[in-house]
Amino acid sequence: MGSYIPKAVHVNPMPDDVDAVLDHILLEDEVLQDVRAASRRAGLPAIAVSTQQGKMMQLLASLSGAYYILEIGTLGGYSTICLARGNQNSRVTTLECEPRYAAVAQENFRRAGIDNRVQVLLGSAVDRLWELHCQIRDGMLSPFDFVFIDADKENNVTYLNWAVKCGKPGTVIVVDNVVREGRCLTQPDKLDFLERLGHNKHLDACVIQTVGGKTWDGFTLAKVK
Ligand code: SAH
Ligand code: MG
Repeated sequence: MGSYIPKAVHVNPMPDDVDAVLDHILLEDEVLQDVRAASRRAGLPAIAVSTQQGKMMQLLASLSGAYYILEIGTLGGYSTICLARGNQNSRVTTLECEPRYAAVAQENFRRAGIDNRVQVLLGSAVDRLWELHCQIRDGMLSPFDFVFIDADKENNVTYLNWAVKCGKPGTVIVVDNVVREGRCLTQPDKLDFLERLGHNKHLDACVIQTVGGKTWDGFTLAKVK
């Protein structure tokens, strides 16, 4: 075994120790390292997708051949860059309500050389989704091939419905953090997200639990029927 394997993995293995090993072998490239560092310097919360999850998003975008991509929740744009890398000429629309985060993301898109094919829409995601839906309905905009939902979790049901409306048969939808710290997210006043997902006639879906730097987490992978 290589010397890069932390002692803790042998002694008392924890998910983030294993992530440290994986990240050592399957490295972030320099651009993504710079993006993460710039986001940290700007004081953004460290809640972007992990290195491995980011690569998974890139692969999913690539495997699905996604050209028009929608992201809900930009932060510093780490996951946006991963999504944009899935296909060379793809276009990403990403929604963010914090102007300061959006400014950091814009700078990161320039760093990654993708600023010409990423559009950040500022404001409440629900408002922006309504506008995007109207543009798609009126034939002004193509439906999205891929939607990544990763914003305020209490709106996940709403975002899922908009994702279906802004997509078409075959659209891939990923919802991050539907499991958090080993618990399914529940909403006291609304039907639970997972229950809605299970009953949604428009979707084929699964939930995959994960362990790693984000502790015991999980995401939804779905396809519009
Ligand atoms: N997808 C990013 C992380 C996003 S964190 C990555 O993995 O790199 C969630 C983001 O959603 C935050 O930047 C937060 O400001 C934004 N957000 C939260 N509520 C929102 C809302 N109602 N409308 C738009 N953006 C929102
Ligand atoms: Mg997330």
